Amino acid sequence: MNKNYINGLLFLCLQILAFRSFAVTYDIVVTPDVTVSSEYSMLSSQFSQVNIHQVFNLPKEAWTPQESPLILSNGTNWLAIDITNSSEQEANFYIMLNNDLQLKDMMLYEHGYGNTIKTTTITPHYNGLSSARLRIPAKETWRVYLTANSDGASKIHLDIVNSNEFVESLSTSQYVTGIAIGGMFTLALVMLMLFAANGSKWLLILCAYFTVQAMSLSVLLGINLYSFFPEMSEFRGLEIPLLTSFSAILLMWFTRELFDLKNYSKTLNKLLRVCGWLLFSYLPLSMLFTLNTNLVISKLIDVVIAAALIGVGVFLIKHKQRLALLFTIVIFSQLVFLLTNLATTSWYGFNTTLYIISYWLHGFLITFVLSRQYYYQNLDSERAQKESLENEMLSRQAQEELLTLQQETQEQLEVRVQERTLELNIALQELEEANRELAEKNTLDDLTGLYNRRYYDQKLLAEFRRSRRNLTPLSIVVIDIDHFKSVNDTYGHIAGDNCLIILAKIIKEGLRRSTDVGCRYGGEEFCLILPETDTEGAIAIAEELRAAVQDQVFTVSDKTINLSISCGVSTYKQQKDLTPEDLFLAADKALYQAKNQGRDRVIVFDLNTLETE
Ligand code: GH3
Ligand code: MG
Ligand code: MG
Repeated sequence: MNKNYINGLLFLCLQILAFRSFAVTYDIVVTPDVTVSSEYSMLSSQFSQVNIHQVFNLPKEAWTPQESPLILSNGTNWLAIDITNSSEQEANFYIMLNNDLQLKDMMLYEHGYGNTIKTTTITPHYNGLSSARLRIPAKETWRVYLTANSDGASKIHLDIVNSNEFVESLSTSQYVTGIAIGGMFTLALVMLMLFAANGSKWLLILCAYFTVQAMSLSVLLGINLYSFFPEMSEFRGLEIPLLTSFSAILLMWFTRELFDLKNYSKTLNKLLRVCGWLLFSYLPLSMLFTLNTNLVISKLIDVVIAAALIGVGVFLIKHKQRLALLFTIVIFSQLVFLLTNLATTSWYGFNTTLYIISYWLHGFLITFVLSRQYYYQNLDSERAQKESLENEMLSRQAQEELLTLQQETQEQLEVRVQERTLELNIALQELEEANRELAEKNTLDDLTGLYNRRYYDQKLLAEFRRSRRNLTPLSIVVIDIDHFKSVNDTYGHIAGDNCLIILAKIIKEGLRRSTDVGCRYGGEEFCLILPETDTEGAIAIAEELRAAVQDQVFTVSDKTINLSISCGVSTYKQQKDLTPEDLFLAADKALYQAKNQGRDRVIVFDLNTLETE
């Protein structure tokens, strides 16, 4: 930015200097450095209607001596200047006029050679360049007359200088003017470039604002339409309302955009907009007013808008806008300069330096406000970045903490689950054991320890199906103790029970295969289930048992009891349409036969016979 700024500034300055130098170098004849003294006097307003010929003949008393600045009243003012060339040679002198916009034109009258009057028009040019040349012989005092036509009261500075002073003053003035105006244009250009880079709306507004400011300054410094077209007196001051209005409109717009005023107060924002439109509508109206009125209105606009913006600034300060204080100070300084300029102009006459300084200071301060705005924006975005970074870090930390916590909880949970599972497993095992014991108890007969009737039923059904499926024979043996009733009757039930226990023991010992099962069918009846055993095998086992019972001596309470058993055998060999009940029925029938045939024997009942029955 700095590089652009400097380049642009230099370029524009050079251009303006070159242009101005070309424009003014034509009329300067440098003569030796001679001293000059001058005295001013003015004709009182009662003589304003006189013509040049009458003026030459007026008495000396009609003229009142004056000091610079000269106070002009509305209309034609007659001036007389006595210029003394105290040197030993004829020399050129220049009348330099400090331009004031209210000054319409100026005429210089001097005695020509003979009795002629030489008339020179001094065009109100821009500052320091409105000039006329006089040639005064050595050691002589010349009196020249001037008429100054003014719109309203104004103050002007007339300087009589020698050629060297004229050239010096001219070049200084050009230089300063060039830098002041060119610089202001450069500022506008820089804003435009920044806008191209950055896209902020307020930069574009500032670009327009500085352009208008530069144009205003150049108008004030004398580079205006009228100076280019001196013959068109209607051009005089034409730009003033235009530039003043635009400058005010742009400054208000900039303020609205910079602060985003609608966010703070819709009313204020609207008010500034309405002000803008009012100023806009003043433009066509300004054509109807005289230059003097327009000048007054323009100054009023400047002051009112500055005051209004100070009001906005104070409002924003109350709303804690960071830039508001600086902005208010800037606009306040602008107002101070405006008032100072107004005061000096009316007191002392138009002062170039003051205007240049005030315009430049204003430009500088507005740029400073802008730079502060960018500074704050950067600060904000940095802070936001930092905050988001911190937030991210915090959230990451929180996440990590959460994760560790989760892991810890998970571990604790796992440990507890393991503990509980272990406890549960133990409980399950215990339950299983209990269940098993219970199931066992459910299937065993309390007295004899053999399987009970319920187990017998289930087992017989299962073995019956297996036999049918595997095509293996299944035999059963039904055993009944002979004349047991009499044992009970003779020795008592307890003795009978003991006999039953002993018999059960014999049955258990008599079963050879692990698949053979001995059950207590009920009372003193027993039943053997013999899988994969044919009739012969079953008979063999039954016979062995019968023999064992015969051999056994049943001793109960020192008394010896002789017991015998009768057995009924039946074998299932996949005969059709038979049930486990049929198998038992057959064995029971065999037992019945054994009882009938005299007891203590083994009888087989053929299942096929049962079928046919
Ligand atoms: P048999 O079989 O030879 O025809 O004559 P029995 O006297 O054995 O007649 P039965 O089989 O009809 O009699 C069964 C008797 O067995 C009846 C009962 O006194 C006895 N008894 C049945 N269950 C038990 C028991 O659990 N304990 C004892 N002590 N006796 C029982
Ligand atoms: Mg019986
Ligand atoms: Mg019996």
